Amino acid sequence: MITMPLYSYHNQSLKIIKMKNFQSNIKINGFTDSRTCCDRCGKTGLKGTWNIDTADGNYFLGSSCIKKGWQMTQPEFTAKVNSDKSDRLSKAKKEFNASLEGRFYREYIGSDKHGQDIRNFGFGYVLKLIKPATDLRNQICENHNVKFV
Ligand SMILES: [Zn+2]
Repeated sequence: MITMPLYSYHNQSLKIIKMKNFQSNIKINGFTDSRTCCDRCGKTGLKGTWNIDTADGNYFLGSSCIKKGWQMTQPEFTAKVNSDKSDRLSKAKKEFNASLEGRFYREYIGSDKHGQDIRNFGFGYVLKLIKPATDLRNQICENHNVKFV
């Protein structure tokens, strides 16, 4: 187990973040350009950081610090980013499909009624009908940081 203090310079005040070990599981939630300072090394002016969950909490780290901390090569890092993203996507899909709106959407789209509604009432009608489902889907996507379900 590797133990080292982490230094963060957020809010102009020195905050020591103690990340106990880098052996613990890490979950990579996604990249953001709204945080440009690394929680591990304090480096500023990064293009962005990766939001991660660890046994010690939630942090924003630069990719090189994640690779160093968890001893990953670039291909391993990319694979981890992609596999965590696909986990988020399946969670989002599961959540949408389990909802009333999602069940309606799946049964309706492509059905005979869907075709009839387009012919009889037009696309605007159909869009209004599926709006609760698309709104919910957008919200779920935002919550899980994925693009679509
Ligand atoms: Zn760093």
